Amino acid sequence: MTSLPQERRVVTAIPGPKSQELQARRLAAVAAGVGSVLPVFTARASGGIIEDVDGNRLIDFGSGIAVTSVGASAEAVVRRATAQLTDFTHTCFMVTPYEGYVEVAEALAELTPGDHAKKSALFNSGAEAVENAVKIARAYTKRQAVVVFDHGYHGRTNLTMALTAKNMPYKHGFGPFAPEVYRVPVAYGYRWPTGPENAGPEAAAQAVDQISKQVGADNVAAIIIEPVLGEGGFIEPAKGFLPAIRKFAADNGIVFVADEIQSGFCRTGQWFACEDEGIVPDLITTAKGIAGGLPLAAVTGRAEIMDAAHAGGLGGTYGGNPVACAGALGSIETMKELDLNARAKHIEAVMKARLTAMAEKYAHNDRFSIGDIRGRGAMIAIELVKDRTTKEPHPEATAALAKACHQEGLVVLTCGTYGNVLRFLPPLVIGDDLLNEGLDIIEQAFTSV
Ligand SMILES: *Cc1c(COP(=O)(O)O)cnc(C)c1O
Repeated sequence: MTSLPQERRVVTAIPGPKSQELQARRLAAVAAGVGSVLPVFTARASGGIIEDVDGNRLIDFGSGIAVTSVGASAEAVVRRATAQLTDFTHTCFMVTPYEGYVEVAEALAELTPGDHAKKSALFNSGAEAVENAVKIARAYTKRQAVVVFDHGYHGRTNLTMALTAKNMPYKHGFGPFAPEVYRVPVAYGYRWPTGPENAGPEAAAQAVDQISKQVGADNVAAIIIEPVLGEGGFIEPAKGFLPAIRKFAADNGIVFVADEIQSGFCRTGQWFACEDEGIVPDLITTAKGIAGGLPLAAVTGRAEIMDAAHAGGLGGTYGGNPVACAGALGSIETMKELDLNARAKHIEAVMKARLTAMAEKYAHNDRFSIGDIRGRGAMIAIELVKDRTTKEPHPEATAALAKACHQEGLVVLTCGTYGNVLRFLPPLVIGDDLLNEGLDIIEQAFTSV
């Protein structure tokens, strides 16, 4: 682990002069379509701190989008990946296999919900895992249709763009998209017309009706849902929604896929977020938090479904790279050793208490309001609105708040279909001092914006 003092330090404007120089080179050499939240160039990162090339130390409430849950240079990840690098970097599992891949598949079988026989296949990115879950479900069911939800996000490849709800920036101008993808309502409690207490059963009934009448249940290969929706705004489907959809899938021979790429691996205070409602998915896709920052993704599920694809039908040159597998084993070791599920729950308690107090304190501010505080574990968000009664989204205030935080040395991200959600994804290993200091900066931003 990089020995980086766990203290915020702002010594230049943010971004500083060296970052600005690098940003100029970047603008000349890197495609404009690849954005950055904050053009501060990283020198080192560890625990809850990102140190930039100008010597500023920023508090990290982003974890590289829910990836570095164990920190960006966790001891066990570095130790195991380094050892693997010296042994060999690659052979291709499809040419001559290696133990690390098998060990990761065994760990996934142990950690994912359900005690049925499970198998896994490993890939490089979340989008690739979702694509492969669709291939596997189609091979198993011999059906074609795939059902996804409003506000859902599943990636940027052609099929996963089709699965993703939001046009700008993910899909705009990039069509045509893959066929046989159908989108149905999700139980977004805060914005459900008849209120959050009705959202679960009503949204489930609408979704089931649309699938039955517009698609035909026996044409559906897979229903894919994020147990806590990530990019769409950290939406926790209202109570009862997930079990109803899961039951509908089971009753109709549809493969139920939980996309836990953002919500998995201790992020929400469970190994997987679907455990909170006792859901056992048929297939589960993972990536992001799995390997402490190294690129790895997986599809894990019922052995008979996973085995439906013919030999040679799944894979890829780099899928389950040995260094990434070593990183995953180090990451899982760290999660168990430090009980990061408990840590995520502690982060939730601290954040929600502080954010609730802020929502009250700034309720009568005439510029913006916190309309909703939600999420679980270290996956927490606030939805900003112009007015609590109309709930009109306030993306401008959200962007201004994020910017004010960045300038004080706190990395925060935004999300949401309406761009009005400020989301917090601190590394699970962040100390309480940094966590509270980050929340102080957020509170300060409320007064200054
Ligand atoms: C990030 C994300 C993906 C895509 O993962 P990539 O590694 O960026 O391809 C898919 N699904 C969910 C829920 C995600 O959060």
